[in-house]
Amino acid sequence: MTVTTLDQCPLLLGGDWVRDPTWPAQSVHNPSTGEALATVPLCGAPEVERAVGAAAAAYPAWRDTPPLERARVLFRYRDLLERNFNEVAQLITREHGKTLEEARGSLRRGIEVVEFASGIPTLLMGDSLENIAPGMDCDSVRQPLGVCGGITPFNFPAMVPLWMFPIALACGNTFVFKPSEQVPLTAVRMVELLVEAGLPAGVLNLVHGRQEAVDALLTHPVVQAVSFVGSSPVARHVYQTAAAHGKRVQAAAGAKNFMLVLPDANLDAAVPGMMTSAFGCAGERCMAGSVVVTVGGGHDRVRSALVDAAAAIRVGPTDRDGAADMGPVVSASHLERVHNYIDIGLDEGAALARDGRGLQVAQAPGGYYLGPTIFDAVQPGMRIAKDEIFGPVLALMELDELDTAIDLINRSGYGNGASIFTQSGKAARRFRNRVGAGMVGINVGVPASMAFFPFSGWSGSFYGDLHMQGKEGVAFYTRQKVTMSRWP
Ligand code: NAD
Repeated sequence: MTVTTLDQCPLLLGGDWVRDPTWPAQSVHNPSTGEALATVPLCGAPEVERAVGAAAAAYPAWRDTPPLERARVLFRYRDLLERNFNEVAQLITREHGKTLEEARGSLRRGIEVVEFASGIPTLLMGDSLENIAPGMDCDSVRQPLGVCGGITPFNFPAMVPLWMFPIALACGNTFVFKPSEQVPLTAVRMVELLVEAGLPAGVLNLVHGRQEAVDALLTHPVVQAVSFVGSSPVARHVYQTAAAHGKRVQAAAGAKNFMLVLPDANLDAAVPGMMTSAFGCAGERCMAGSVVVTVGGGHDRVRSALVDAAAAIRVGPTDRDGAADMGPVVSASHLERVHNYIDIGLDEGAALARDGRGLQVAQAPGGYYLGPTIFDAVQPGMRIAKDEIFGPVLALMELDELDTAIDLINRSGYGNGASIFTQSGKAARRFRNRVGAGMVGINVGVPASMAFFPFSGWSGSFYGDLHMQGKEGVAFYTRQKVTMSRWP
């Protein structure tokens, strides 16, 4: 199902690729140039009904398919993702705008989840204990839930969906996938490859849309569980609505991630780590370190190293051969939102140590570009220190004590990632022990966990109990049945 320029992205319903020119639709853009790539339909309850119906019909046979056979589909899927690796990475770059290297890195992380899920026979095994009472034995097995739904954000078109459906399907569930309407082309291609891998019709269904489609999934009586990744306001809505309708929910949300730099930090290693964290993927990462706090001195040295490094970042189109280290942000409206935050920072009294506005990219004048931007003299109460900006804007702050900095992070309301750069084991240990974030970096700028560990956001960065990936992912998509047996 190749989507050619300006085609409408198709849905996959019960094994059939479906298009309908009467559906309302919006354009999908290439952020590097602003040009339209395709259109995406904005579907609603009727299409979700068809998708859920197809998933429900496919469920009994898929649930009864031996786990090893389900795993074999994933083995083939993994091979197909490898064989089409460059094409999928290019698609990510085209509709998202991140560099090809970033697209490849994120796709690699996603494939690792497929590899993890391919070990499902072992991951599904239960426990047993003999003689829990005279003549009585007990065992537990993990069973799938039924029809599950997944709703994903724009910033990782392949990786975030791959946190969800490979594990859900490996566990024996069927699935309805609703990707971000900003990046539907990668979603179509990934689903197409899974069909090619031999997934039976109806086991995975694809619908496009926004709130109407999402709400139809959240309230559908047949849907047993919802996985969501996106912004905090929508995550709260998803969590509350789906839970009120009796569903299991995991909703990963927004973030504000802090990076502490102690005077003993090795700046030769720390500065590249902080730069990648702040400006990688143009700052559009839930693990982006967007506040650097120098603790106990050394602020001027850190600031000038960061400003120098930012000046060396080449910003430009990522959809062609060239030398861009950083691409555009995803859309014109998002660029405006990030610009608005720069105005807010200036109004609040922060000082621009580096201003990325007004960047002219001659090769692609229609793209959505902003150069790396660094605010200095940021105070803890400012909005640029508290709100998720989700763009290439870094805030610098100075504090005297480690505990004050940890306390600031713990009061931020978010808890995705937090990093410390130091050579002191004592300071690093205290940070790791006390900080209220679920993914901690010690001399690591982006401590995003890999497939076999949970993607472990805390507080306002996650709503629910069981995270995506790893054993928690398997626990989320299964429920345990405990059997006691006696044979008198
Ligand atoms: P978003 O919340 O705008 O959209 C996410 C999904 O929700 C999309 O599929 C979208 O169609 C849908 N949606 C949007 N508005 C909706 C509404 N009112 N009701 C129901 N559904 C709605 O998020 P985004 O801008 O696509 O993605 C960026 C956000 O995702 C950032 O906040 C980022 O931190 C977050 N994110 C978090 C993680 C994590 O693991 N915590 C990972 C990646 C991204």
